[in-house]
Amino acid sequence: MFKLPDIPLSIFSKMSQLSAAHGAVNLSQGFPDFDVDSKLIDIIKETASKKVHQYCPMNGLPELLQETAKLIDNTYGRKLNHNKEILITAGATQGIFTSIQALIEPGDEVLILDPSYDCYCMPITLSQGIPVRIPLNKEFLPDWELIQKNTTNKTKLIITNNPHNPSGRSWTESDMLELSNLLNSWKHLYHLSDEVYEHITFENTHLSANLYPALHSKTIIVSSFGKTFHITGWKVGYVVAPEAIMNEIKKVHQYLVFTVNSISQHALAQYLKSQDVKKLGPFYQKKRDLFRSGLKESRFDLLPCEGTYFQLASFDKISALDDTSFCEDLVTKFKLAAIPVSVFSAHKEEKKVVRFCFAKEDETLINATKILCEI
Ligand code: PMP
Ligand code: GLN
Repeated sequence: MFKLPDIPLSIFSKMSQLSAAHGAVNLSQGFPDFDVDSKLIDIIKETASKKVHQYCPMNGLPELLQETAKLIDNTYGRKLNHNKEILITAGATQGIFTSIQALIEPGDEVLILDPSYDCYCMPITLSQGIPVRIPLNKEFLPDWELIQKNTTNKTKLIITNNPHNPSGRSWTESDMLELSNLLNSWKHLYHLSDEVYEHITFENTHLSANLYPALHSKTIIVSSFGKTFHITGWKVGYVVAPEAIMNEIKKVHQYLVFTVNSISQHALAQYLKSQDVKKLGPFYQKKRDLFRSGLKESRFDLLPCEGTYFQLASFDKISALDDTSFCEDLVTKFKLAAIPVSVFSAHKEEKKVVRFCFAKEDETLINATKILCEI
C-alpha cells in the first residue's frame, strides 16, 4: 500500500537518540560539537537585518554561485559557468536525491560501493531503479574487477564517495584512471561523485572528479558546506554537472525545493570571500592524531584514516559480539556512542569494526579516549 515499507530510522538518528538517553559522549553521528566561527555568526547577524528574506533565484543566489565557482577554480583549477553548471541544494542529501530522480528510470541499475553512506538507495528505489551493491576491497578501496563484472548495458550510474564515509580512505590516481576507463567504455553510464569531505584530507591531496577533464561530461559532483564550514545543521550544499545533465536536475529541484533558504545563501556568499579551505585538513589532522594517540594504549586496533572526520577501529580483541550489539553495549554500559560499520553494507559479513567521529572539542576526544582505554 505504501511505497517504502522497509526503510528504518537511520543509524545516525538511532545512535544519537541512544546517546542522549544515556548521557553518553556522542562520537556516533558525524557533526562537530565545537563552536562555529564567530566571523560567520557576525555575518548572519548583519545579514538578517538586510533585505534577504525573499526567494533567491531557483538555482541559487548569483553571488553564492559565483563564490562556489571561485572556490572550485582555486582548489582544482576548473572553470565552471556558475549559472549553468552549479546548483545550490539543501545539503548534499538533496543534491544526491535530486540527481538520482532526474537520471534513473525504472529498471536502470545503479552501482553502489559498500560500505556506503545511507542516502543512496532510497531515491533509486523510489525511481524504480535497482541498486547493485558491490563490496569495496579489504582496504575499503574499489575492486575494479568486480565493478567491471557488474557493469552491463542496464547500468546507468555509478555512485562513488571519496574521501570515504565510513572508512576515511581516499582514492588513488589509478582508481581515477579505472573510473575514466569505465565511463569511456559504457556510453550510457554516468557518475555521481559524493565529495562532501573534499576539503578534509590529510597526508594525500584529494583527487576530485573536478581535476579530471575526462570525467567532466558524465559526472555529477555533490558537496556540502555543512562539512567545510562546521555547519551541518544549515543543510546547504551544491551540485556541479555539465549543462545538459544540470538542466534535468533543475527540473526536479524546481519542484522539490524550488530554491534553498535565502539567509544562509547570503551569509555563505559573504563568508566564502574570506575563507581559506586549505586550513581544514590540518585542523582535522590534529584532531585525528590526538584521538589516535589517545587510543594507543587501548585494545582497539585503528585502521588507516586519510580523510573525513571518521576513524574506524576493530574491537576484535575486545569482544565476541557483533558490531551492532557492541555499540549498544558501548553506549549503555560505557556511555560512549559509536556507529557499527556493518549497517553500511547490504551483505553483512561479520566485521568487528566501529566508526568514531573525531569532529569534536579536544576535551571531548580526551574524555572519549579515556573511556575507550578502559574497555
Ligand atoms: N554524503 C556523505 C558521504 C555524508 O557523510 C553526508 C553526511 N552528512 C552526506 C552525504 C550528506 O550531507 P548533507 O548534510 O550536506 O546533506
Ligand atoms: N553524515 C553523517 C554521518 O555519517 C550523518 C548525517 C545524518 O544523520 N543524516 O554520521
